Amino acid sequence: MGNESHSIHDFDYSLICEYFASLERQGPGSPEVTVRALSFIEGLTTESRIVDLGCGTGGQTRVLAGHAPGSVTGLDLFPDFIRIFNANSQAAGLSERVRGIVGSMDALPFAEEELDLIWSEGAIYNIGFERGIREWRRFLRPGGYLAVSEASWFTESRPDEIDRFWNEAYPGIDTIANKVGQLQQAGYVPVAIFILPENCWTDHFYKPQVPVQEKFLQQHADNPAAAGLVAEQQREARLYDRYKTYYGYAFYIARKL
Ligand code: SAM
Repeated sequence: MGNESHSIHDFDYSLICEYFASLERQGPGSPEVTVRALSFIEGLTTESRIVDLGCGTGGQTRVLAGHAPGSVTGLDLFPDFIRIFNANSQAAGLSERVRGIVGSMDALPFAEEELDLIWSEGAIYNIGFERGIREWRRFLRPGGYLAVSEASWFTESRPDEIDRFWNEAYPGIDTIANKVGQLQQAGYVPVAIFILPENCWTDHFYKPQVPVQEKFLQQHADNPAAAGLVAEQQREARLYDRYKTYYGYAFYIARKL
């Protein structure tokens, strides 16, 4: 967002940040799922270096840090999220081990083979799964782990409406089998894959948005961008309810060869 004059997009970003900043999570997931994904990862110690890319305000980062030894760096593009991340980490008494930094997942500020674990929940889509797993690999030490959750098709084909929605929103969505193939080709050993339960979308993501939407619309009455943002989130929730047999998030846990 730098020094350039404010464009409509900057304004949209600040609205999006404001909307999501008040939520514990900015994407589907749950503490149980974070702990389950972590259970497949071996060999972490107090010396381990863990990063959480696209961490948002860090709900899942704090769960991760509560169940894994080592230091955890959360990285997100949006300074507002990182401010909240660091305040929450301090309030949870985790600031010695858990810190948030502003940065972009396509230009990581880490050294080659520095990391023991790269974590990312519902965020790799920002640069695309295939690109992300390839570009991030060099920062992992040999034997280091990657754990990412990612939108995935459950079936080979699906109704047009949901196919169109996802191909516009994120053309990188693919079947679980194809994503496992991409991991293999990028030089990882797939260790575990599981589908996130429905409550990660309903109880932990869409339901907490309902009171936020009401307040947000009151605060931004007469702002069509705010009304549009809320309408889009509501549409997503309706589509999920209708088409959840065809897609969801899967957690992919893999080891660098
Ligand atoms: N991991 C969090 C969670 O599960 O609640 C947040 C997921 S949210 C759907 C996606 C996150 O990616 C947002 O916090 C957004 O700011 C961040 N993001 C978008 N583009 C990014 C980039 N290029 N580099 C780092 N983070 C980015």
